[in-house]
Amino acid sequence: MARDKRRIIACLVLILWLLLIPSTVAADGITVVESKADYSFAQQVTFTLQATSDTDITQVYLFFHATGEERTEAVNVPVEPARETGVNYVHDLRHFPLPPFAIITFWWQIEDAVGNRLITEPQQFEYTDNRFQWEHLSADGLTVHWIEGYGDPAFGQAALDIARASLEEINAELRAPVPESITIYIYNAQHNLDAAMVLTGREWMSGQARPELGAVVVAIPYEEGYTSRMMRYIPHEITHLLVYQAVTPTGYKYVPCWLDEGLATANERLPTPEYAMALEEARVAGALLPLEDLCVPFSPNSRTAFLAYAESASVVQFIRERYGAEGIRTLLAAYANGASCAGGVQEALNISLSGLETIWRAHLEPRAPWRAWVEEVGVWVGLWLLSLLVAVPMIGRFRRR
Ligand SMILES: [Zn+2]
Repeated sequence: MARDKRRIIACLVLILWLLLIPSTVAADGITVVESKADYSFAQQVTFTLQATSDTDITQVYLFFHATGEERTEAVNVPVEPARETGVNYVHDLRHFPLPPFAIITFWWQIEDAVGNRLITEPQQFEYTDNRFQWEHLSADGLTVHWIEGYGDPAFGQAALDIARASLEEINAELRAPVPESITIYIYNAQHNLDAAMVLTGREWMSGQARPELGAVVVAIPYEEGYTSRMMRYIPHEITHLLVYQAVTPTGYKYVPCWLDEGLATANERLPTPEYAMALEEARVAGALLPLEDLCVPFSPNSRTAFLAYAESASVVQFIRERYGAEGIRTLLAAYANGASCAGGVQEALNISLSGLETIWRAHLEPRAPWRAWVEEVGVWVGLWLLSLLVAVPMIGRFRRR
C-alpha cells in the first residue's frame, strides 16, 4: 500500500516536472507566424522564421539534422531585439554539404526578454536533387526515379524489374530484413551524378548506396544497352543496402570492404570480363593485393581499386563454393557483433585470414593437366580399384576349389 502511495507521488512529481520544463510547453507570448526551408540542391538551404512575442525576442537558435548522420547542427541566428522578428539563415551546401536524399529535420528555439522560451515542433523536408524533374515508378516498396526526358516508361520499368529480381535473389542468400522502402535514382550522365555527390566527401563511382537511407544512386545514360548497365549497377548497390540491413544497427562499420564490395560485385547480374582479366594478370605477375589490405576502403587509385573489386568478388565466390550461403551469413553475423576483419573469418569459417588467403590463391592457380584428369577420372579409377579388391580374393577362392 505504502509502496503504491510512493509510486503515485513519484508519478505526480514527474508530471509536474514535465509540465514545468519550459521547452516542452508552448511559451506564453511567443507565436510562430512562419517557419520553412527552401533549397537549391548542392548550393544552399534557406531556413526562414517569422515570430512575434509580447516582449522583445532576444535569441533565436536553429537546429537541423539529417537522417543517418549523428550530428545535429545548432546555429545561434543573430536577431535585433524586437517584438516581431523575421530571420533567414542561409546554410552553404557547397562547403557544408548535406547527404543527398536524406530527410532533413529542423526546429527553432526562440527566447524573449522575460525568459519565455519556445521550441517549435520539428519539421522535415526531403533533400532530393531538385536541379531536375524526376519521373518515377513504384512497386512492392521499391521506387525508381529517372530524370524527365531521359528515359521512357520502359526504361523505368526495366530498372524496376531488375531491382525486384535482384532484391529477391540477393536476399535468398543474405536473409536480411528488407528495408521498408528502397529508392533508386538514375542519373542520365556520370557528370550529373558526380556534381551531386562529390561534395559529400565520398567517392562516387558509377553508383553509390546510402544504406542508412535505403537509397541508391546510379548513372545510366538512356541509350542502347542501358539494361546491361542496370544489370550491373542496380544489384551491386542493392547488395550494399542488404548487407547494411543484415548487420544493422551497429555492425556495418565492421564489415570488411572485401566482403561488402565482394558480395556486391559478385551479385552483379552481368559479369564484367575485365575483372577476370585483371585478376589473372595480377596472379601471373605475382601482384595480387594482400587480402588484409582489402579489409579497409580501397585505394583511390582506380587501377588498384579495380583489382580490389575483382579480388573481393573472387574471394566471396570462393567462400560461397566452399562454405555455402551459410558461410556468408555466419561471417556477416560475426561482423554484426563487432568482430575484427581477421577475427570474423576465424570465428565464422574457423580459419585465419591468411589461411583463407592461401587456399583462395591456391584455388586461383591453374591446375596441372594430369591433376585435372585425375580429379575427373578419380572416381572411376577408385571404383575400378575397389572392384579389383573384391574380385581378386573371389578369384582365388574359385581357384582353390
Ligand atoms: Zn560497391
